[in-house]
Amino acid sequence: MSSTPTFLHLAARAAGYRPSPVRDFWEVSMQPGVISLAGGNPDLTVLPLAGLGEAASRIITERGLDALQYGSGTGTGGARDAVARVMAAEGNPVDPEHVQITAGSQMALELVVKLLCDPGDVILAEGPTYVGALGVFAGMQTDVAHVAMDSDGLIPEALEEAIARLRSEGRTVKALYTIPNFHNPTGITLSAERRPRIVEICSRAGLPIIEDNPYGLLGFDGATLPSMHQLDPDNVIYLGSFSKIVAPGLRVGWAVAPEPLRRPLQLASEATTICASVLSQTLVEEYILGHDWEAVLAKARGLYRSRSAAVQEALTEHMPAGVRWSEPRGGFFTWLDLPDGVSCHAVLDAAIDAKVVFVPGTAFYTGPDMDPGVPGFSQLRLAFSLEEEDTLREGVRRLGEAIRGK
Ligand code: PMP
Repeated sequence: MSSTPTFLHLAARAAGYRPSPVRDFWEVSMQPGVISLAGGNPDLTVLPLAGLGEAASRIITERGLDALQYGSGTGTGGARDAVARVMAAEGNPVDPEHVQITAGSQMALELVVKLLCDPGDVILAEGPTYVGALGVFAGMQTDVAHVAMDSDGLIPEALEEAIARLRSEGRTVKALYTIPNFHNPTGITLSAERRPRIVEICSRAGLPIIEDNPYGLLGFDGATLPSMHQLDPDNVIYLGSFSKIVAPGLRVGWAVAPEPLRRPLQLASEATTICASVLSQTLVEEYILGHDWEAVLAKARGLYRSRSAAVQEALTEHMPAGVRWSEPRGGFFTWLDLPDGVSCHAVLDAAIDAKVVFVPGTAFYTGPDMDPGVPGFSQLRLAFSLEEEDTLREGVRRLGEAIRGK
């Protein structure tokens, strides 16, 4: 008698994971001649690779017995000091003792959601929001309710309305997940004026805020805004990352949580990875504490600023009437609104034929993604972080033609 192998009986949560459209485009974008405006990869050409190589070699020869060993569950002292240094540079001083190091901030987000949410709970998030966060929420079997944003970021009134509506429907709302600075995917920054209002609304509603801030130091002019964590450290869980300011391959991120969550976060982190890579953490420590990382970052900001400007100019030149776009002041992304009814999927098919790729808007919302009229159907994300200015201009020109053909 044969029975179905038990490994085919996947848990219900397995169905929640969708392939990341950003990763799906990897293969297409690797084809010769294709311009990728899809993946939000940092430009690593600014890094002092020789210096980092020397540091890596020295770490292994001189500190290898520690750096290649298991490490502390909260992170190494050096990496936590490096986090404090980076957060202070953004105007967000923090006690290194309060920092939980993780293997990228993606992992920190998953741990936080794991600790806060039961299946069926609701997380509020900007509409649109980071596709990787949607993956975490789905995997944890939580529902997402999108909150509208405008050119000043998340709209406080829409947040209040969403909390009241969901609660009146008997739903358990567990947290607000938000990306206040140079938001992925729109590039929009939450205004200084709205920050205390949003903090106040969530505090009054007893709703923790998960503040995801991987791009805060990437303002084109170097300007920073106070984090919501600074405004209400007892109700805001702050997530940070070295991925965009050093290198994503290191896989070092962090969380700064209110006191009652710190120990559970450490235990959950240990259950997942025991500890983040000590080798990577030591390299981060050497780089942030021993190199002029801020000068390197200033160079990177200059690159992103020129690239964004090139995209803005090209959009003005090549987009047909009825297309609108965001004007980011930092980060990696610009968000496009196509004329009503134009399908981002149809535009993507035409764009692939024209050898340019982007991420369709529906990827950044929960729910069905091919039905006409669903959120994101007439929207798309362009990343300008990696390609040269001329390539970006040509990519936008090709995109303009693809949209015109629809
Ligand atoms: N949050 C946002 C908004 C992101 O854009 C990303 C990376 N694309 C992450 C989190 C994950 O970053 P990490 O590499 O630190 O896991």
